Amino acid sequence: MKNLLVMKFGGTSVGSAARMRVAARLAAEERARRPVAVVVSAMSKVTDLLLDAMRHAEAGDRAGMETSLAALRQRHEDACRELLPETRHAAAMAEIHARIAEFERIAEGMAMLNVRPPRSVDEAVATGERLSALLISEYLASEGVPAAVVDAIDVIVTDAVFGNASPLMAPTREKARERVLPLLKKGVLPVITGFNGATADGRPTTLGRGGSDFSASILAAALDASELWIWTDVDGIMSADPKLAPDAAVLDEITYAEAAELAYNGAKVLHARTLAPLIGKGIPVWSKNSFAPEKPGTKIVPTSSAATGARAVTSMANVALVSIEPASPELSAVQVMARAIDAIARVDVEVLVLSSSSYRQNFCFLVREEELERAVEAIEAALALELAHGYVRPVQVDREVGLLAVVGEGMQGKPGLAGRVFTAISRERVNVIAIAQGASEISIAIVVRRDGLEKAVRAVHAECGMGRR
Ligand code: ADP
Ligand code: ASP
Ligand code: MG
Repeated sequence: MKNLLVMKFGGTSVGSAARMRVAARLAAEERARRPVAVVVSAMSKVTDLLLDAMRHAEAGDRAGMETSLAALRQRHEDACRELLPETRHAAAMAEIHARIAEFERIAEGMAMLNVRPPRSVDEAVATGERLSALLISEYLASEGVPAAVVDAIDVIVTDAVFGNASPLMAPTREKARERVLPLLKKGVLPVITGFNGATADGRPTTLGRGGSDFSASILAAALDASELWIWTDVDGIMSADPKLAPDAAVLDEITYAEAAELAYNGAKVLHARTLAPLIGKGIPVWSKNSFAPEKPGTKIVPTSSAATGARAVTSMANVALVSIEPASPELSAVQVMARAIDAIARVDVEVLVLSSSSYRQNFCFLVREEELERAVEAIEAALALELAHGYVRPVQVDREVGLLAVVGEGMQGKPGLAGRVFTAISRERVNVIAIAQGASEISIAIVVRRDGLEKAVRAVHAECGMGRR
């Protein structure tokens, strides 16, 4: 299919009937010019609501579960009434209630057994995307734009890592062509659920929180789209999170590598794995504001010849630092490190920063807080003998830390930059705990005290002159 545009709308961009109308209009306008496929998130906060309902279910708290479900029903019934002409209400409401009943059936099972298995969570949690896709597609149809809901369960094929699945591109490509291309050829606008997929044998999976960006890039790659537009609630990718640095500036253009580095280091504006499926195809991505669609947004391009230096600063608060120290000089610290890293890789924990000291032979690494318990258990099991005999000191965990990263291509060409960054942080009296510079020198990652993280972000942003002038 030539000239295909994939458009993804995030939670706030479909957060109410009014926002859904805008999203539908933006899609319909482009569709008048070229084929368009739409990927949607759940309405804002709905995924949190669904997860809450399941947590209540596991705890056997039926009242709590019912409160979340009532909020879920209300949100979608209101949107339905406001969005659709009255003649369509009854049929759409029936569909909404059917999706919610399916969710309730799974949550009810959790409540009965007091369990919340990741597999069942994945089966249920994409209900939010199913509901928003349903509403938008119904609205488009009511406006005379032929549209159809496509559940990504039938399109995106993944591995079986529930809650954080990875796509298998060859079968996904086949299914996308089978399911989505015929709709496009008939002039029907596919409204595809973001966030979810299924294993080759049909077990539902999800791609991690914020995963609808990733869904959209997987589909753009699978369908050989010519562009991907990601609609969100800010003017594009900025020099810092505008919630932390109000003077953050929009970046006109950044490279895949810069965007990936920003996303991996906590810039929520893109899901960390969004760029991966596009490498090789070189499909350009635009990050745009659905609340100000006339603004150009940020273009993300495969490479750029301009070495721009430090461009943006990001942060991540929900992280923890794990330190390991051999107590015996006879023990090879490198081997201990290799075994520890191997152990946590086996339980799918990602190491965000790794830093070691050759003098005391100790090393530390940063992981996401939600993966901490898994990481420590795996290390303690792998080094059980050494720990029991005192060859390795007890594993230390520090939760009061945060990650700050400075990102930009060509930073190595800017002498003194690292020094300025550290000086700016220390001027704010924020302690630096660990440092790592990637081999690519596209980012400098700095672990600081958690309570100084936001101050440090603002200080580095100002020091590097990244803000609006
Ligand atoms: P969506 O629901 O559209 O996927 P998200 O809430 O996931 O939107 O991401 C958008 C948010 O990302 C913005 O509101 C902003 O606060 C935050 N953000 C963090 N870092 C950045 C950055 N560098 N540039 C732009 N936005 C950022
Ligand atoms: N709705 C999902 C979430 O909140 C996916 C997304 O919005 O991208 O994580
Ligand atoms: Mg998002």
